[in-house]
Amino acid sequence: MADFETPSLKSYPMIPALTEDVMKDSAPFIAKPDHNAPLGFPGELVDNWEEKAIAKMGDLLGKYRGFQVYLDSCVKCGACTDKCHYFLGTTDPKNMPVARQDLLRSVYRRYFTFAGKYFPKLVGARDMSKEVLDEWYSYFHQCSQCRRCSVYCPYGIDTAEISMAAREIMDTVGVGQKYCNEIIAKVYKIGNNLGLPEKALRATLLDLEEDIFDETGINVKLPLDVKGADILFITPSADFFAEPHIDGLIGYAKVLHEAGVSWTFSSHASEAGNFGMFIGSYENMQQVAIRIREAAEDLGVKRIVHGECGHAWRVAYSFWNTLIGPFDFLDPNYPVPQHICEFTYDMLKRDKLNIDKSRNDDKTLTFHDSCNVARATRMGDKPGGQFDIPRAIIKAVCNNYVEMEAGTTKEATFCCGGGGGLLTDDLMEIRVKGAMPRMATLTEVVKEEGVTHMAAICAICKSQFSKVLPYYKMQMDMIVSVHQLVSNALILTGQVDEEDDD
Ligand code: SF4
Ligand code: SF4
Repeated sequence: MADFETPSLKSYPMIPALTEDVMKDSAPFIAKPDHNAPLGFPGELVDNWEEKAIAKMGDLLGKYRGFQVYLDSCVKCGACTDKCHYFLGTTDPKNMPVARQDLLRSVYRRYFTFAGKYFPKLVGARDMSKEVLDEWYSYFHQCSQCRRCSVYCPYGIDTAEISMAAREIMDTVGVGQKYCNEIIAKVYKIGNNLGLPEKALRATLLDLEEDIFDETGINVKLPLDVKGADILFITPSADFFAEPHIDGLIGYAKVLHEAGVSWTFSSHASEAGNFGMFIGSYENMQQVAIRIREAAEDLGVKRIVHGECGHAWRVAYSFWNTLIGPFDFLDPNYPVPQHICEFTYDMLKRDKLNIDKSRNDDKTLTFHDSCNVARATRMGDKPGGQFDIPRAIIKAVCNNYVEMEAGTTKEATFCCGGGGGLLTDDLMEIRVKGAMPRMATLTEVVKEEGVTHMAAICAICKSQFSKVLPYYKMQMDMIVSVHQLVSNALILTGQVDEEDDD
């Protein structure tokens, strides 16, 4: 035998046969006038909407150079065609990233290029029409803006940016998506995506303090609106009540307690999530984000630390500086923003947490990289920290860890299928189909490596997987928070370790 390693046999990555227009009727509920008004958008389809849509496209082309470069530079090489989880899950060719881009590119060509103006048929240029608008509404809400396709494009064309622009144009002419617009309006009115008022939030935090005391015998506080605290902790509001998010929240509180830092939540900024990004509106993204700066200034904190939320971390990491910076009022000795994973990792490295890994021995873990964290941010001070730090935390608190197949993790991770403003029941079909590639790789490690649980650091991933795992014959509680694992393994100072006592 020759001296080299024969590759191991893996499931063959099939490129599916196409099913034309199979998802053309998939579309989210349209926003009503009272959902749109607080965001500054017209209530319904405006008169002369075609002209206004084209004018808005022109406005975006002038403002965002990348948008025009993406529209001009595709050479139809096809490298992106099989990279979208929605294409793999639905087989609809319009869910190929290049085809999705072309829905908008064809209109761009018609109105903004010489060839499209004078020889439209030759260059595939199309007039803006109601048929085109309906197609946009359907297929630009079948993109979770996960950016996987851009990793494989030789020109780095980012379909997410094109989806965002399409959604902004549609909102501008009065065709917004109910789920996102209603949620953004709730943030403006009440302070968080769930519409959880301050009184209910305070009661929830008190209940959680009691739960932690019952479990550990230790008074761990979850403070709210404490002026002069060192740290403002912001987290997705799903952490306050959803499963498994809430177990992660308990983990953050335990770590902060052990660190001995003074910290607080804010009722004014009780939401880290920012759906302004999903609808492509920088104005709304800014208006949602500014609440966090206002809370930080009002409470007089020195640092801001983020809970587990993928898109919120992206907004903070990539957009905060220009949207709501500068942060010269915060302590320059700490990064702005800082992720709870960075905080916990630092505590672990300095041996400041009393960890009993065996408390997670009933589980074999794998880790799902959330797309916004993986492809739009970093953690720590080294490239790849966004991949290494969550894994280092899991390995520090669990004995059994397995990776999913290379090419489906880290920068090549598959989206959960529910990101980008698609986490709504009216889009259940596309959510379940879009989850297929991740469910396939998960099933493989379940069967071959005995994996029992998958951890994530994104509130949307956690909610999405809880919902879709049963469709793929797996238990909804297989998905766990990374800080839930930390919470399980962490023995608080003064806590009697019952397992040691036995
Ligand atoms: S950004 Fe993600 S969801 Fe959108 S086309 Fe690309 S791979 Fe598909
Ligand atoms: S990989 Fe890039 S250049 Fe190639 S078809 Fe896709 S978007 Fe166009």
